[in-house]
Amino acid sequence: MAQADVHDAFETLAIHAGQEPDQLTGAVVPPIYQVSTYAQDGVGGVRGGTKGGATSGPGRWIEGYEYSRTANPTRGALEECLAALEGGTRALAFASGMAAEDCLIRAVCRPGDHVLIPHDAYGGTFRLFDKVLAGWGLTCHPVPVSDPAAVRSAMAAHGARLIWVETPTNPLLSIADIGSLAEIAHSGGALLVVDNTFASPYLQQPLGLGADAVVHSSTKYLGGHSDVIGGAVVVSDTDLAARLAFLQNAVGSAAGPFDSWLTLRGIKTLSVRMDRHCANGLQVAIMLASHPRVARVYYPGLPDHAGHELAAKQMRGFGGVVSFQHADGVEAAVAMCGRTRLFTLGESLGGVESLIEHPARMTHASAAGSPLEVPADLVRLSVGIENIDDLLDDLRAALC
Ligand SMILES: *Cc1c(COP(=O)(O)O)cnc(C)c1O
Repeated sequence: MAQADVHDAFETLAIHAGQEPDQLTGAVVPPIYQVSTYAQDGVGGVRGGTKGGATSGPGRWIEGYEYSRTANPTRGALEECLAALEGGTRALAFASGMAAEDCLIRAVCRPGDHVLIPHDAYGGTFRLFDKVLAGWGLTCHPVPVSDPAAVRSAMAAHGARLIWVETPTNPLLSIADIGSLAEIAHSGGALLVVDNTFASPYLQQPLGLGADAVVHSSTKYLGGHSDVIGGAVVVSDTDLAARLAFLQNAVGSAAGPFDSWLTLRGIKTLSVRMDRHCANGLQVAIMLASHPRVARVYYPGLPDHAGHELAAKQMRGFGGVVSFQHADGVEAAVAMCGRTRLFTLGESLGGVESLIEHPARMTHASAAGSPLEVPADLVRLSVGIENIDDLLDDLRAALC
């Protein structure tokens, strides 16, 4: 019987980890267990899980199936696959990236704690800290996470519980040194969390570089087809995993079975999609860098990007998100976003189709007036996997 082994390569794990053929029928894809509850064989006689003797697969984390908020086989398959792809012990799948972040923060932080976040963090992450968790006693400090010295001094000044890092960051694509930040975090008694949404585990595996937890918006590259909202947390430490699983069930923010199934289906092609996203992203960045209507390009694959060498060391490729400042200012940037034919004007990223957006008025509008405010003439592209010549033609036509 085909079974994924932790020593299998990434592409193999993406297709097989947590996804053994169904025991009853041999179905090669995990069924959608669209169910809320499970029959018990006598009171407390739950099926599956450790009570049923499971020592491997997702069943090893649960006593058995009693209620789908607590455990569901389709979600379990996704969680097992994500843990394998990130090289973690256990993953937990959530209804959204934000739900995953919230669960992780609440599992780790207590009122009075300080958290360091990237000064160009994802707008929703900043809003969660600034508008929601501030009311529960958490204080967040935006720092430039690509500058370890700045992080070290912020750490010394505030004594943070968590260092929260995105790399590459959104939307400015700066690169943080995960290994150095893990050292800084651990020497100050903090945990290092990496939001790995932009890279995906195919391009970067933060746990292996010293991070304590990885969070994902699986809505983006993992799902990959712009048809599902989801999130995940992956950790190595089994105590932290148990606290997360407790909270996931207690709060009720778990991913549903159909969403889990869609995400798992997307993950099967993650490696081939990412290879194409990277190739197309680089071509777009190179074209923009020499275009007269473009003032500045942000893409870690370009040799003059400040984080290029670090990214080349820490990542397998540079991803499919490219940002740039329009040479003719804000109105030209906004107008261009409405002029593309193939790049659809919309928020989000990481799908097979190309998207264009204006961060200052769209994804990052909530950061206006804060230290996280982004340049008003900035345009962000999520470069899809369409034909590269068609994409370049579309951008050139919209630029002039
Ligand atoms: C989209 C995104 C999130 C939030 O995820 P949702 O699935 O939209 O809740 C978090 N971090 C990053 C980097 C993102 O791009």
